[in-house]
Amino acid sequence: MKTLWIVHGRRRVLTQQTEFPTGRYAFSLCVDFFNPLSNKQAGKKVSIGIISLACLNLPPDERYKPENMFLVGIIPGPKEPPLNLLNHYLTPIVDVLLELWSPGVRFSRTYNHPTGRTLRCALIAVICDLPAARKVGGFASFHHRHFCSVCHCTKFKEGYGSTDYECWQRRTNSECRKFSEAFAQAPDAASQNAVFEASGIRYSELSRLPYFDLSRCIVVDAMHNLFLGLIKEHFHNIIGIGRAKTAEGAVVFVEFPDPPSDFTDAEQKSLATLRKMLQQPLNDAIEASPEAVKKKLMRFHHRPLAFACEMLEVDDNKVFMDDQARALHSKATCSEDLLCWVSYPFLFRLSILILGQHSVLIRSSFVMWVLIRRRGLDKC
Ligand SMILES: [Zn+2]
Repeated sequence: MKTLWIVHGRRRVLTQQTEFPTGRYAFSLCVDFFNPLSNKQAGKKVSIGIISLACLNLPPDERYKPENMFLVGIIPGPKEPPLNLLNHYLTPIVDVLLELWSPGVRFSRTYNHPTGRTLRCALIAVICDLPAARKVGGFASFHHRHFCSVCHCTKFKEGYGSTDYECWQRRTNSECRKFSEAFAQAPDAASQNAVFEASGIRYSELSRLPYFDLSRCIVVDAMHNLFLGLIKEHFHNIIGIGRAKTAEGAVVFVEFPDPPSDFTDAEQKSLATLRKMLQQPLNDAIEASPEAVKKKLMRFHHRPLAFACEMLEVDDNKVFMDDQARALHSKATCSEDLLCWVSYPFLFRLSILILGQHSVLIRSSFVMWVLIRRRGLDKC
């Protein structure tokens, strides 16, 4: 007889059980990227990834102590690998996990079992922040048309704002595996892209694990989801604690989420200047000469223009940046779309005359801000 901790949800229960003939261990896999030079807004953007395993047989307050975690791999920087190259880092881990699943590994002698014992292990959850979870599971980023890894909602049909959850259709493991396999078997990049565009799924090494459910076992962890996501969103952006002051003379409040990590310093500066320009009243300038304003917009770097278009959802039918943060439309198209978007707040400005400056500034800021922040909600 052996005492075992059995973890049921958040409670741990002490039970007396007959010892398993083989040791059975469940693990969670975590992949996270961080900046080793610390996260300063104007600092150098460097990204290094760590891959770690936590043993879920341990009680929750023990399993994440540094001495109990297993650092399986390091993904070298300075940039995150492109979406389809993360698999190379997972291959050796999956090889080991496959062996540990079947037939298991026999240790000739352990501390508690002098005569030896067979161990079998399984990976039962991948716990990451949202971008890393998508990369590891082979799912499209949250910018893609198929933005969800759990259901079939699409950006243009249901959108990010839909709460009609009874109509959402859940993805299943078998169909995720089917698309993952079709992606792997595709003879060329064009057919791979066709599979990906239709399903939002790429090949993932995790699909080699026979027991792993791609649609259920990929989890966004509580720290990123709740503390850095919803709670930060609520306090920082809805209540406004610690939010940057609106620039002087601004008529709308524009806030972008952090730009992609590979934006150069010049591109970041360009984005900041563009943000300032979009907040200023451009009414008279556009009326005098829309061409001149477009020309002014064309002077900004290409990717900041595309990033602004994507984040402000200037055109619901267009995707302006792909998963690897490349601009998908020309500078001219981005500038034209931004120009149309800039014209939109005129509606709010018009009511300044009727309702008084302050109330409208607050109202329009809030409405614009809601529009903008809708995009940032799923970021973490
Ligand atoms: Zn969903």
